[in-house]
Amino acid sequence: MPTKFQNFINGKWVNARSGKTFENRNPANWDEVVGLFPLSDTADVEAAVKAAREAFDSWRLVPAPKRGDILRKVGDLMTERKEELAKLMTREMGKVLLETLGDVQEGIDTAYYAAAEGRRLFGHTVPSELPSKFNMAMRMPIGVAGIITPWNFPMAIPTWKIFPALVCGNTVVFKPASDTPATATKLVEILAEAGVPAGVINIVHGGGGKVGMAIVEHPDVDLVSFTGSSSVGKRISEAAGKTLKRVSLELGGKNAQVVMEDANLELALEGVLWGAFGTTGQRCTATSRLIVHERVYDKFMAIVVEGTKKLRLGDGLKKTSDVGPLVNEAQRETVDSYVKIGLGEGAKLLTGGKAATSGALKKGWFYEPTILADVKPSMRVAREEIFGPVLSVLKVRSITEAIEVSNGTPYGLSSSVYTQNIGYAYQAIRDIRAGITYINSPTIGAEAHMPFGGVKETGNGHREGGWTVYEFFSEWKTVYVDYSGKLQRAQIDTNKA
Ligand code: NAD
Repeated sequence: MPTKFQNFINGKWVNARSGKTFENRNPANWDEVVGLFPLSDTADVEAAVKAAREAFDSWRLVPAPKRGDILRKVGDLMTERKEELAKLMTREMGKVLLETLGDVQEGIDTAYYAAAEGRRLFGHTVPSELPSKFNMAMRMPIGVAGIITPWNFPMAIPTWKIFPALVCGNTVVFKPASDTPATATKLVEILAEAGVPAGVINIVHGGGGKVGMAIVEHPDVDLVSFTGSSSVGKRISEAAGKTLKRVSLELGGKNAQVVMEDANLELALEGVLWGAFGTTGQRCTATSRLIVHERVYDKFMAIVVEGTKKLRLGDGLKKTSDVGPLVNEAQRETVDSYVKIGLGEGAKLLTGGKAATSGALKKGWFYEPTILADVKPSMRVAREEIFGPVLSVLKVRSITEAIEVSNGTPYGLSSSVYTQNIGYAYQAIRDIRAGITYINSPTIGAEAHMPFGGVKETGNGHREGGWTVYEFFSEWKTVYVDYSGKLQRAQIDTNKA
């Protein structure tokens, strides 16, 4: 019998009110059911929002350093269980153990950062324009936070949102992706065990259209933090606008690595293999395009193809696997259809190009690491997010052209330039339209204490990570204390002689 998981509402583990469930299967072996999860609907969301709303009244009064102390305990528990959590994550979404360990570590780093932020949450004191008057601006909690997350970082992304939300004094209704409900449930178990009070953290499993949208539309949810595709992000933004909710959207990417004629090619090779095929290309920051200077093109592409062919596909739990499966059947079909589109548009296949179905791979959603060359900036494989192990290669003649090509998509998340020329590096930093620019390292590899997010269709201007996410989860209260004992009128009495 598969393990049965539940929702967590008002401090209690409960089934969906309808009693319905859905299965979560291992993408490396679809015979293995990782667990059964509640297939929730609006009634479950209603109960979770009610619990979160009621819990807000007392949670907001808990001193922020105490809220931070709970998150330190969360970090400790995650550290103790790091390996167990990573193995479960690999079983439910496929990426290799080295990477799922990194995913959990990002959550641990985020927990300790949040614990420290509980003792900071800095405000401002500013001089008044009037005598005997004190001015300050301080951070206040907002209310109930709706948190909706994707499956590719099943631990890190929920922690990026939930931990700052809690430290700021908000309560949470969390809907994880239905491909990764097990890791999410373990995270909530840890939060409860560490001492987060009943109703402050709630998890409701189920589909995006039903559970996710019910959270977004609920009038008692004050803010929504969403990471996922740009198409769903647009729908969420529209729906949330009807109740004037604050919304943070972290969306898709079409990231490029530029390799200039003076680059250290061995270093650039390691970067592109890790950036393009790590997480099987299923990162919002994945290197989906490689832009190479014509002078090193032939030499560099020869080693890129050779390196790609050496990558070993397999179950992420096996030490011999470099690249795991895609998350599900639909994702593999999408990837395959993009490869066909690219070939139809005139791209040349250098390696890969089909599902991998032989031997131990036959019961998983594996796809060969693929390189498409002769790609032109106008082609769909150069502009649209594929979210799989497919690298589109474009040739350029200068740094200016490289930057122009890098900018030529509707997205603007991550970017990378390999060069030894400081002028090229700073031109790229100045002119690439992206939220993140790496010099001499790949497009992937965010650190938890730095702002994370993108421009254009990658988001709506907010940033996760570091100190910036605390802006999203708190509201400024401006306070004036007049101890002069008389009416002092700003702008009017100030100008008296
Ligand atoms: P998705 O948009 O399909 O789903 C994301 C979440 O939204 C899931 O929990 C899903 O159930 C829910 N959802 C779906 N439809 C909904 C609706 N109508 N209303 C409310 N919720 C709904 O994305 P995915 O396939 O899970 O993840 C892959 C996408 O996420 C890629 O586009 C990737 O680039 C993006 N992503 C972005 C970042 C970032 O920080 N910019 C990070 C990771 C992933």
